[in-house]
Amino acid sequence: MIQRRAIGIKAGKAMRERNLEGIGVSPGIVIGVVRVYARRRLMVRPRPLSEKQVEAELKRFDRAIERAAKDIARVSQQVQKRLGAESAGIFEAHLLMLEDPMLVDRSRELIREEQINADFAVLTAMSEIQKAFGAVKDEFFRQRLSDLEDVGRRLIDYVQSRRNRQRKLASEGKHILVADDLSPSEAACLDTSHVAGLITEKGSKTSHTAILCRSVGVPAVVGVSKALDLFKDGDACILDGISGRLIVDPDSRTMVAYSRQRAAYKHFEQELETLRDEPPVTTDGHEIELSSNIELPLELEHVQSCGGTGIGLYRTEYLFLARNTMPSEELQYTEYIKAAQAVKPGRVIIRTFDLGGDKQPRGMVFPPEANPFLGWRAIRVSLDRPKLFRTQLRAILRASVEGNVQVMFPMISGLTQLEEALKVVEDVKAELRRENVPFNEQIPCGIMVEVPSAVIVARELARRVDFFSIGTNDLTQYLLAVDRNNATVAHLFQSMHPAVLRSMRQAIQAAREEGIWVGMCGELAGDPAATMLLLGMGLDELSVSPVILPEIKMLIRALSLEEAREFTNQVLTLCSADKIQNLCDRTVRERFGSLPIWRPQVTRRRRR
Ligand code: PEP
Ligand code: MG
Repeated sequence: MIQRRAIGIKAGKAMRERNLEGIGVSPGIVIGVVRVYARRRLMVRPRPLSEKQVEAELKRFDRAIERAAKDIARVSQQVQKRLGAESAGIFEAHLLMLEDPMLVDRSRELIREEQINADFAVLTAMSEIQKAFGAVKDEFFRQRLSDLEDVGRRLIDYVQSRRNRQRKLASEGKHILVADDLSPSEAACLDTSHVAGLITEKGSKTSHTAILCRSVGVPAVVGVSKALDLFKDGDACILDGISGRLIVDPDSRTMVAYSRQRAAYKHFEQELETLRDEPPVTTDGHEIELSSNIELPLELEHVQSCGGTGIGLYRTEYLFLARNTMPSEELQYTEYIKAAQAVKPGRVIIRTFDLGGDKQPRGMVFPPEANPFLGWRAIRVSLDRPKLFRTQLRAILRASVEGNVQVMFPMISGLTQLEEALKVVEDVKAELRRENVPFNEQIPCGIMVEVPSAVIVARELARRVDFFSIGTNDLTQYLLAVDRNNATVAHLFQSMHPAVLRSMRQAIQAAREEGIWVGMCGELAGDPAATMLLLGMGLDELSVSPVILPEIKMLIRALSLEEAREFTNQVLTLCSADKIQNLCDRTVRERFGSLPIWRPQVTRRRRR
């Protein structure tokens, strides 16, 4: 029996329930009362300095940096104790940002040359960074901007000699917190004894807030436009972190339905946990590899705890995007070997830098391009920048002594390009031999199959490599001519389009005929509605986000290869993406309808 009072609904007062939607980033269902937290406004005013005051102001600024660094190190230690090294890694990045020239050197320059107070100088530097990079769409980059803002705010607090000015994120009782956004330090310090769920206006699936909410087990829905206006303190709310749905002032029928769903989800989580050490094997005994995609070294712990077998895609470009300069051979080697040791005996597939497109690091000059995704990107950049490419290959080859490291090239479009890349690998191997540096002579080399031309010449490519990994994100983008980051055409980005599925099948067949291993690391691999279809396609591996991996394992273990093959044959006779999507959705509902499976949200067509 649900206590209406417990969630603050006044008996007798009729309220109409309202439905809102965002992105479910941390699964779980919460029924509770809302508390709204508005971000504290920074109070910074310009104060002109006399020439004599400049030196003293610079000292004040340097002292603030020292104190901010101590503060960040302290938070980092607390977080490490509470949540482990993975979550604390964010604060190491914050410490590095206290050395960021665009923030720190620029603030010093403004104090010295414009003769303005330190806090106003920091604020000016922050808004310059925001102006220069605010329009960049890349998710990772946007996250770095929000980190930089967090660090800048802390610095301003210290310049103004105010400590402990963080928003108080908890009060009496347990609430669903509604905020514009949470800084990583706020998210990491969420007190789960007071915060039952989180709703934010900003954020995305890969934001730090999302990662941290998942680690502390706080269900969360982000990207809820105008949330601060739509909620008020004391509103009763149901938060569904699985579907991204929010129901404000739910009526009693909805309450009963969601209470049942909440109980079912808790039970489901317990069931998934019992599968952690079980293999991803079908009911008729066919085993498929199930591994993780990682973008940040700090995700390694997730990889170890989610019950997968290794890393099917290590997106190394993030080592580059997180700093201003090219990551050294030593730094890369340390990260790669750490990953190899962590997942042993599982494999780690290290993809060489996929720079360009929307991933343009500050430490490198990219020509202005009308169509960057069709331009200087991925292997094209690597082949044109031999020093960059060779340094990375040296680091990967050195880490290959662990025996489980594989190297993979992104965006290969044809044989000549592949031969060129393989030639560089051979040259670097020869160099290491001359230097008596050990490495695995038999290191497997493979390619992402993500450009349509690679599918068409897949047989020839397969003869030259040890493995394929199908990248459905780019394969969909390039086959359907739909920009993967363009919200206006997002409804046309359909990885279940028959053209994409037939291309995948063609690539898999080519791999089979040439006797090489073939996996899939695009987002489709982590869509539960596609699991049966992909099993039936005959892939050797699915590489997915560690958060979704337990669910995919559960689905694999409940299906037989025989039924999956039949299903795939049926799907491949259909000629429209909608029909395929509907059949897959219907089948997963019929087979697993009673389970609260987390589905990536399908983008609907928007009216213009
Ligand atoms: C892909 O294109 O499917 C892929 C996995 O690579 P990325 O998303 O990094 O381009
Ligand atoms: Mg890709």
